[in-house]
Amino acid sequence: MAGGTDILDEIKNKIIAPEVVVDLKSVPGLSTIKTDKKHVAIGAMTNVADLAENPIIREKFPGLVEAALSLATPQLRNVGTVGGNLCQRPRCWYYRDPDTICRKKGGSRCYAFRGKNRYHAIFGGGLCYIVHPSDLAPALISLEAEVMINGPTGKKDILKLDDFFSLPQNNVRRENILEPHQVLSEIRIPLPKNGAKSAYFKFKERGTWDFAVVSAAVNGIVSNGVFRDFKIVLGGVAPIPWRLKKAEDFIRGKQLSEDVIRQGARKALADARPLTENAYKMDLVEAVLHAVISSTV
Ligand SMILES: Cc1cc2nc3c(=O)[nH]c(=O)nc-3n(C[C@H](O)[C@H](O)[C@H](O)COP(=O)(O)OP(=O)(O)OC[C@H]3O[C@@H](n4cnc5c(N)ncnc54)[C@H](O)[C@@H]3O)c2cc1C
Repeated sequence: MAGGTDILDEIKNKIIAPEVVVDLKSVPGLSTIKTDKKHVAIGAMTNVADLAENPIIREKFPGLVEAALSLATPQLRNVGTVGGNLCQRPRCWYYRDPDTICRKKGGSRCYAFRGKNRYHAIFGGGLCYIVHPSDLAPALISLEAEVMINGPTGKKDILKLDDFFSLPQNNVRRENILEPHQVLSEIRIPLPKNGAKSAYFKFKERGTWDFAVVSAAVNGIVSNGVFRDFKIVLGGVAPIPWRLKKAEDFIRGKQLSEDVIRQGARKALADARPLTENAYKMDLVEAVLHAVISSTV
């Protein structure tokens, strides 16, 4: 347990029943934000509000600040942590229903596949069609963040955040590669290159707090209206934060225009496999991509 804003709901709603809960607040040194010549290192127990208010983060990573301020409510951002946000469990209503034993809970069916699936995945589904709920994850991946993982042996592994998340096809019960007893201890972001810009755009159904229906993070070098070295990562569309590589390849080096962005989105959307109720997300991907890229030029 970090801030407890997700895990305590899961316990109270009888989705999980751990024998022991370890409160990470008792582990010292996990809630600082430090900078060296190459990176900004964010302790996993840093709360989301402190992340969004940190002067270095505000100066260097505006897209990450937009993502942080878009999530949940001020109260939840004061308590929820960055590590907890990345490791939070999915919001799929079948998973969150204590009486439904879906594949993610050891059952044999994904009820969303032929059921109520308007908020579910259009990319990367298969055994399970959850969408990754974190707003910070797409923004951090677009910034090429790495994560540090600690375990009982004391050994620290560092890997790209992109490689931290894992599709249901690898292990349908989990959303990331953490082994039992391992924790995320730090998130490291390389300092931005000269001329780099980052932004985050989130489409949600309600004006008040809500999870992303579709969101997009972009980070890269843009000069004279041309993107050169950049990454686009979507939230709300796949079981993991979803990189739009085909859109990046199409848009790279071209003078940005609405037409170029929409064509880029359509290249990437050729891989989408919408379910019965969520093809509308395809249009949203185009619109959100246009909004986020336009905001950087
Ligand atoms: C009403 C509501 C609205 C929300 N809206 C949004 C939203 O719009 N966007 C968004 O992104 N999120 C949203 N959230 C999710 C919220 O941001 C998360 O609940 C919060 O970030 C989780 O952080 P926590 O520290 O409380 O995690 P906890 O609840 O303590 O833990 C969550 C999970 O992560 C695991 N965990 C926590 N820290 C670590 C670690 N360091 N290493 C390994 N595992 C760890 C826990 O074991 C648990 O499984 C919302 C939540 C609520 C309740």
